[in-house]
Amino acid sequence: MNAAGAGAGSETSTRASWVRAVPDEAAVAALAAIFVQHVQTPLVIFLNGDLGAGKTTFARAFLRALGYRGYVKSPSYGLLESYRAGGLAILHLDLYRIEDPEELEYLAIRDLYDAETVLLVEWPEKGLHHLPRPDLELRFDEVNEAHTITCFAKSTTGIAASNKILRDF
Ligand code: ADP
Ligand code: MG
Repeated sequence: MNAAGAGAGSETSTRASWVRAVPDEAAVAALAAIFVQHVQTPLVIFLNGDLGAGKTTFARAFLRALGYRGYVKSPSYGLLESYRAGGLAILHLDLYRIEDPEELEYLAIRDLYDAETVLLVEWPEKGLHHLPRPDLELRFDEVNEAHTITCFAKSTTGIAASNKILRDF
């Protein structure tokens, strides 16, 4: 236990956030493989972070870990890509280019979204009030070429998944 954790005995089993160093894409793939083992659908994951921080790389690794073998393109232009893999429906949104959150209504996310869906959203802050609430928020950082992923659990489902993922590290 580190100094900050001293005295907080229950912290390790119920932490609502954690951070993981991901020095290369293999580390992202390893983390994504743990994620997919603990996915309970429906699940909404927001992917936050600057351009180039690793959001699409994670989405790609997530799909690969579910067994998807096809090409996974960045949805920056199309806004939405959808996949079926591992018995799940994966919707991958990238809102970087939208001007107005209302544009999301045309995509009819709610109609596409069902009990087997995992929704991954890059730039969710651009779709505020037009997206379902997240279960997990992942923050991608790159400082001096050192990549990290921080996970924040935002719902009961998210906390359960986050803790299981943390235990499997
Ligand atoms: P974003 O979607 O956040 O804009 P990308 O996932 O497209 O960013 O990643 C941008 C670049 O950074 C890619 O070339 C990718 O290979 C590289 N990259 C992403 N994650 C990592 C990582 N954990 N370690 C090293 N390189 C990474
Ligand atoms: Mg991207």
